[in-house]
Amino acid sequence: MTPHADFHVHSNYSDGRPLPEMVAAAERAGLEAVGITDHCNVSNRSVPMRAKREHGFNLDLTYERRREALESLRAATDLAIYDGVELDYDPRDEPELESFLEQAGFDYAIGSVHELDGACIFDRSAFADRSESERRDLVDDYYRKIVSLLEFDAFDVLGHVDAIERTPELRGYATTEHYHRVADALVESSSVLEINAGRVGREYGSFHPEPSFLEILRDRNVRFVPGSDAHRPAELVDRVPLFADRFVEAGLESTSPIG
Ligand SMILES: [Zn+2]
Ligand SMILES: [Zn+2]
Repeated sequence: MTPHADFHVHSNYSDGRPLPEMVAAAERAGLEAVGITDHCNVSNRSVPMRAKREHGFNLDLTYERRREALESLRAATDLAIYDGVELDYDPRDEPELESFLEQAGFDYAIGSVHELDGACIFDRSAFADRSESERRDLVDDYYRKIVSLLEFDAFDVLGHVDAIERTPELRGYATTEHYHRVADALVESSSVLEINAGRVGREYGSFHPEPSFLEILRDRNVRFVPGSDAHRPAELVDRVPLFADRFVEAGLESTSPIG
């Protein structure tokens, strides 16, 4: 079945465009449901605390206000609008993540690994001076965190599973063994994966997971939700038909993270 939903959308409650514009774009794209999943970090460690202050990622403080906004937007549309979150995961933050998820009660939560060795995985300059063997170790650490996220089992969705492939300095170090380790952990976990269209049409150009990884996961009957990872209205409108095609082309059924 082609997906009629997008479960990974940002708004100005993190680093995207205004919430009403993102919801209007979901309507324009002909969707039946949209999940707003702003970035959120609840770590007490100094590196992520500084990063969230500097970037203005405040959803841990503003989710109730956003919830009221979603409620008033629902009144004007037939679109189902979900109150989601994209939470930064690091094994060291598990107690904070657990209590925040319980306290906030989102419709669903995406867990994503964005931090590697104290840097953002997308920050090319942080990895440019690393040797081959250091890069290999970093990619190994990244997949260790992904497996640990799945074992933690507190998220409904694992976000952009092979996101490090977006970063040219970290690209190409992942192994089939990493992919199988993730697949093994997924089978034991209640999380599902996403087909993430966040870099389609950009430098990296591919969906997450990349084709050879997707094949391994598909053989294990892993389930997938569709996510544009849009930060702007036009991205949402452009990516919805792309990920719909991707589901059809790969012979995948889309699932929902709700309930
Ligand atoms: Zn992300
Ligand atoms: Zn995102």
